[in-house]
Amino acid sequence: MFSATSCCNPKGLASDHVGPALRGAPDEPRPAHHGAARPISAAADLMVVGRIVTNDPASPMAEAMTVAGGRIIGIGSLADVSHHVGPATTTLRPDGFVLPGLVDPHMHIWTSLLTYPNVDLSHEICPTLDAVMATIRAAVAGAQPSQVVCFKNFDPSLYPGEPVLTRTALDDLAPHNPVLAWNASGHFVYVNSLMLAAAGVTDQTPNPPGGTFERADGRMTGVVGEPPAIQLLLKGLPQPSMTDVARYIREILTACAARGVTSVREAATGALAGPKELALLHQLNAQQRFPVRVSTAQFAMVPGQTPQQVAAMWKAAGVTPFSGDEMLRADAWKVVSDGSNQGRSGYFLQPYLGEDNGGKADYTPEGLRDALRAGLDDGWQVMVHTNGDAAVEFVLEAFAELLPGYGDHDLRHRLEHCSFTMDDQLVRMADLSVSPSFLMNHLYYWGAAFRDTILGPQRAGRLDRVASAYRAGLRPSLHSDYNVTAVHPLLSARTAVLRQTKADGQVLNAAECATPAQALAAITTNAAWQIHADDRGVLGVGKAADFGFASGNPWQTDPAGWAEIDFHATYVDGQAAWES
Ligand SMILES: [Zn+2]
Repeated sequence: MFSATSCCNPKGLASDHVGPALRGAPDEPRPAHHGAARPISAAADLMVVGRIVTNDPASPMAEAMTVAGGRIIGIGSLADVSHHVGPATTTLRPDGFVLPGLVDPHMHIWTSLLTYPNVDLSHEICPTLDAVMATIRAAVAGAQPSQVVCFKNFDPSLYPGEPVLTRTALDDLAPHNPVLAWNASGHFVYVNSLMLAAAGVTDQTPNPPGGTFERADGRMTGVVGEPPAIQLLLKGLPQPSMTDVARYIREILTACAARGVTSVREAATGALAGPKELALLHQLNAQQRFPVRVSTAQFAMVPGQTPQQVAAMWKAAGVTPFSGDEMLRADAWKVVSDGSNQGRSGYFLQPYLGEDNGGKADYTPEGLRDALRAGLDDGWQVMVHTNGDAAVEFVLEAFAELLPGYGDHDLRHRLEHCSFTMDDQLVRMADLSVSPSFLMNHLYYWGAAFRDTILGPQRAGRLDRVASAYRAGLRPSLHSDYNVTAVHPLLSARTAVLRQTKADGQVLNAAECATPAQALAAITTNAAWQIHADDRGVLGVGKAADFGFASGNPWQTDPAGWAEIDFHATYVDGQAAWES
């Protein structure tokens, strides 16, 4: 589902509390084609004058840029472009710097909706377990009696030695309110007695297949594991309306724009409601253009259906590779091969520290091939979630067997997270033209936990090997996996260069530090290339007019300060998209 690991693993949650609102969405995607009506003429409809950072090494800075019909038609000195200016040209002279729009090539709208309004218990907000408890207490105190209070992003792996949230602890904190707290991995929720009662779950309720109600001496502890069991509790939550859902989606995309992002890929479209999700996005974008362009990866995994049946469902809804419009396009096929490393369900060649368990694959070898074939047969770019090094191996073997049979179509298949890799795996990825997209914030937030308690220092050093990926000839990108971490590409890029953990500032394997230019390519041109948007991530003639106005120029400043660069406006397709 969402989180640190299972970000993309919403199997079985189709009948959650958000489902009823989504059932009201249209069935078929109807693109709005906002950008289609404007001809590209020789006269500019927009001119931007200022300190323009092009991301083109041949001429890194420009003084002026002209735009017509959503495309850049001139860039250089003011004199170079002045012949484009006519009576209908609007001129902007922003403060600071003009940067190419940033790209987050893997984030989640749909699974994030499951927890969107919940109170945040992430380590970022609550650095100690005491702070977690205080946050819960304050939220409950602010609620009406008997109102359900929900929390998200509690990650016990970041409070080593401390207990998890249990029914007893939550009963003490919230004696009069049902309470449900999500583990950051999405694999667990923690509930109190009133929440169990609200969902109709008793100590006698059996564990559903694939799910666990943890018990001690026959009494439920409040620790509930995996979607089939979690789903029984979600049914007891208040249901958002369609209006709520529409507002949440716009807020999620607006938060992307506020970090300078102009394009995202939604990395598990259909996870909650199938093609209706895409139809709803088109409907909302038609009502009011989204602040960012959205590329979607159609989710291959629907409980009770074969991948071929899922593929047929997308096709029947008219969702085929690169269908949609300039704001909202269906581009990929998404498969999940393992779990979460910090949740100790990522699939590793060696066991986790202090355990016999090394995680496992979510598929049999033949099942994985079926899921990949279903996407490849229909011509999709395939992106596969692989967290542990054994998962990377598992998927590479399948790709090596299957891809030669599909010819060379430049589909740019991807491994998502690709968190832990061996040297030869990166080389084989290059041979197969399969690119990595790294969840770089894994290192920032969980790097110390991987080193000290989950994997040990040697394996932890093989996390997110951006430098080695470049050395192997790959074009890596960086992503947030929102809501596993916040969308903030410049923070991800900073971490790719510095590799410092948040917990103690220690560098996790200096040999894997990216150069500043490599890290910035991974959030601009490489990420754009991975979402099949070669006209984005760089400002040049013929490219998309997607850019942001920023307080700093990361191409010319110390990476240590990148995360503090502010954005105050963005433009998409040459039109204002967001303003602070
Ligand atoms: Zn994901």
